[in-house]
Amino acid sequence: MDLSLLLVLLAALGIGWWLGQRERSQKRHKEMGLQADYYRGLNYLLNQQTDEALELFIHALDVNPQTVDTHLALGSLFRRRGEVDKAIQIHQNLLAGKGLGQEQLMLAELELAHDFIKAGLLDRAEELLLDVAQQPNQQKAKATELLVDVYQREQDWHKALEVGAAANVSASVELAQRLSHFCCELAEESLGKGEEKPCLLYLKQAKRHNADNPRVSFLRAKLSMQQHHYTDAKRHMLVMAQQDVQLMPEIIQPLKQCFAQLDDIAGWRAWLSQAMSLHPSTSLVLAQAKELSQDNDSDAAAYVTEQLRQRPSVKGFNYLIDLHMQWASANAKDSLQVLKGLTVALQRSKPHYRCRQCGFAGNSMHWQCPSCHQWGSTKPIYGLEGE
Ligand SMILES: [Zn+2]
Repeated sequence: MDLSLLLVLLAALGIGWWLGQRERSQKRHKEMGLQADYYRGLNYLLNQQTDEALELFIHALDVNPQTVDTHLALGSLFRRRGEVDKAIQIHQNLLAGKGLGQEQLMLAELELAHDFIKAGLLDRAEELLLDVAQQPNQQKAKATELLVDVYQREQDWHKALEVGAAANVSASVELAQRLSHFCCELAEESLGKGEEKPCLLYLKQAKRHNADNPRVSFLRAKLSMQQHHYTDAKRHMLVMAQQDVQLMPEIIQPLKQCFAQLDDIAGWRAWLSQAMSLHPSTSLVLAQAKELSQDNDSDAAAYVTEQLRQRPSVKGFNYLIDLHMQWASANAKDSLQVLKGLTVALQRSKPHYRCRQCGFAGNSMHWQCPSCHQWGSTKPIYGLEGE
């Protein structure tokens, strides 16, 4: 039995005791019936018959200040089990009850909003959260955070920023990181439309929320490249690599372009060697090999072979086959072609990026994981089938 179910049952047993005490009161007969319902409900819950349990609990447990915690615990349990419709029923029943204090009402509204978010009913969640966030109560901060969640899901970055910025951002590093990404979303939108000034303003705002967000450096570099400011672009990309070394494969191609625009091939080659010693990856090996192959193909082949011994990778192996095909006889070329078909198919069948939070894998780099919605958790995959 999971811990949450155990806790709910303990809370429920407490209520059971309380019902037992009430038995001595004048309404003895009625409550005998309620108590029987209550224990039958407990039995249903233990036997995973949640529909029957829910009906009997709602019938047996009057809504009053003493039973609020049990209603909330049950609602939260159903939501976590994925039975959102039952959680909604419990919380709506709680809100329809009389005699609850202001804090208890706010708490019930917050829980119901949580249910609505999980059910995808975002406008209904928003309405409740605005009500909680606009009144002085202990749930205000939590309501604000959930409201940011709602606007994030709706991709309404302006509203998400407005609500999030009004909260005490310094108290939550996680919220500050999210706000920084919201600004980046707006910056990307502006960049896509060629609006450079607003793009820069959003990026400055993003940096104020989180000075270490590598996405800000990446977008600053993209903007600088669009403006043909290659020295600035290079600087921003190097900052990005320092902020998150795992993302280094992402900057290799644009960085190469910057060095080329600045006619600094020596600088590019020096950076490649330095990067390889700092954080080796297959993309770096291949970039290095391409440089070597400009002078001599056999040097490039020897280099890749040596690197593959140390860090085997399908991508590196493909490159090596390509090099060998140039020198092979007609017969050997056919065999190498078949081999390459297999390794290319293998490479294509494997994802290139994975979310460190939930494990979601795909072939595109997402700043927000499409599965768990975490920001900045997706990284290139390293190892035999990746970098
Ligand atoms: Zn994820």
